[in-house]
Amino acid sequence: MTTPPTLARRLQLSSPMRWLVPVILLLLFLAVLFWLPWQARQMESNERQEQLIADTLWVEQTIRFQLARNEESLYNLGGDIATGTLPEARVHERLQQMLRNGRELQRVIWIDTHGTVQASSDNTISQETHFSALSLTAGDNARRLHRGQYAQPSQQSGFPDAPPGAMLMDYHQPLFHGQHYVGSLVATYQISSLLDEMVPWWFAQDNQISLIDRDDKVLARRAAAGPGHGVYTHKRALDVPGATLILFTDSVKSQPKLLPNLLVGSVIALSLGLLWSLLALWRHISRRLTAEGALRQQMLFRTAMENSLVTGMRARDLEGRVTYVNPAFCQMVGYPPEEVLGHLPPMPYWPQEAMEEYQQRFVKALADNTTPQSETYFLRADGARLPVLIFEAPLVDKNGKQTGWMGSVLDISDRKQVEELNRQQQEKLQTSSRLATMGELASMLAHELNQPLAAISSYTTGALNLIRRAIDGGKPVDPVTLRPALEQASAQAQRAGQIIRSVHDFVRKSEPQRQDVAIRKLLDGIRVLIDLQARKYYVTIQEEIPRDLPLLWADPVMIEQVLLNLTRNAIEAMQDAAPGRRIMRLRASYDAQQEMVTVDVIDMGHGIEPAVAERLFSPFFSTKAEGMGMGLNICRTAIEFHGGALTFSANPAGGTIFTFSVPAVPRAPQSTTATISRQ
Ligand code: ADP
Repeated sequence: MTTPPTLARRLQLSSPMRWLVPVILLLLFLAVLFWLPWQARQMESNERQEQLIADTLWVEQTIRFQLARNEESLYNLGGDIATGTLPEARVHERLQQMLRNGRELQRVIWIDTHGTVQASSDNTISQETHFSALSLTAGDNARRLHRGQYAQPSQQSGFPDAPPGAMLMDYHQPLFHGQHYVGSLVATYQISSLLDEMVPWWFAQDNQISLIDRDDKVLARRAAAGPGHGVYTHKRALDVPGATLILFTDSVKSQPKLLPNLLVGSVIALSLGLLWSLLALWRHISRRLTAEGALRQQMLFRTAMENSLVTGMRARDLEGRVTYVNPAFCQMVGYPPEEVLGHLPPMPYWPQEAMEEYQQRFVKALADNTTPQSETYFLRADGARLPVLIFEAPLVDKNGKQTGWMGSVLDISDRKQVEELNRQQQEKLQTSSRLATMGELASMLAHELNQPLAAISSYTTGALNLIRRAIDGGKPVDPVTLRPALEQASAQAQRAGQIIRSVHDFVRKSEPQRQDVAIRKLLDGIRVLIDLQARKYYVTIQEEIPRDLPLLWADPVMIEQVLLNLTRNAIEAMQDAAPGRRIMRLRASYDAQQEMVTVDVIDMGHGIEPAVAERLFSPFFSTKAEGMGMGLNICRTAIEFHGGALTFSANPAGGTIFTFSVPAVPRAPQSTTATISRQ
């Protein structure tokens, strides 16, 4: 049987490689999937950073621009004051105006060369003012360098408007008239105001903005939207002359989320689903491959089993179409599987003469009446006939519904041959047994024939003497005197003939031929032989045979042989018995229920010992010096052949009773019994 190419076999071709490509692709897919959001986050992060830098620059520019504008205003005012073009009363006004324009300014004052306040934007302060050391240094530098200088921011007193602890930064603008220093304009910035006033609200909304010194000390901070996260930061030096101010921005935005939106989430969920389904598929295929492997193993096992079977197997569907045959079946019928498979009845191996019987059997099978076992024969392709024994069983599917029949076919030609051989052997044995019996009886026959022959001889001699005397005396022969002698001679000749015929009949036939026959007639046929035996051992024979005993349906010669053997055994068993006990009884009866005639051969001989009884029917078992030991074996075969039985039992009066039964031609028996005694 050939197995169709399976998925497993196709998959096996590329073996481990078949997994490598999809696994690599899947890993690549997953890597890209995870790398993409990371990359997106990175880009977004960079973008935010760049945006922050740009915004910070913009803020720095704004502050610088405002500071530069203030510087310019102070320079111009300073120029006017130094040249004296501006009356002192107007100076105060201009200072106040400056303060109004620049809300980041806390105060602007004009001091002379001694540091005395000449004019101030703030009316409340006194003429005396104190600068911090840093501010004084910046003032000196400004005077020396002839240009405005900023002082490093510090806390200063004397500013009631400024919140406590506020950092203030002075800007010293020196005033020169020609080359002569004539005083200074000092503008004081509140650092926190710089941030509050100059940083636009939208920027402050997203960032914490600080101004720090070179030691990173915070001078002022604006955190409208809370503290920065320290993720996106940027530092930018303001580069004002004389002081170091650094603008530090810290975005309140945190790192962009890895899964910023539903899309990426769903893509990941989908790919996880894909991964799971791939795993499930892989597990399923693995299981399938395992199952297919096991199935293939089973198939190979089954095929090997089928091929090794000597029993033919044949499956048919409900229409009788052959759906399966094994090699043994094909060998039996001599047809290749393709000529049998799919074939509907009549099959090519049905013999012509048995076609009808086969068809009927098939019709019976269709009617759900399959014979589980039947003996028949097939016609082989080479024309030979093959005796077979068929066992049929219904084929059912997984739902328990019958789909056809499975038949196993046994080639019984060997058995048939053995049976035939046995039969021939049995026949030969019977013949040789009969011949042996005949050989044994031949001497007795010769002896017995002597008697009638001698009688015939003496009767004919007497008759001849009478004739001779009549001729010598010149008298005519009186036929009346001759008659008794000739009658006796004739009777003896007939008896001799009967003895010879009986022996002849006994050995002549070999094939059993049944016919209606009376037990009495059978006994008559062998009586001379029985009598010969009986006379030899001085045995009396008693017959108890009902007159209207039904006829037997039997082979006469076989039953005669049985009777002859049993009577001979009975007579021989009594050869040492007391003369008064040498009686052999032959009794026949009819069993109406069984429709059998039963015959008992009863002797009063030595009986049968248990050890002998065990082997009584074994071939060649004999206790006699010249016995062949075949008699009882042949008797039993002959009786069983007729469908009867041969048994034995002990005679209560001493001796043995051998009983056999033979089918009768049915008839109600009559109770009349005739007892005939002879010697
Ligand atoms: P054979 O007579 O040649 O020995 P049989 O098969 O007829 O062969 O008998 C086998 C044996 O059975 C005999 O040798 C004898 O010992 C025993 N046997 C048969 N019939 C009787 C009987 N009626 N009484 C006692 N023994 C018997």
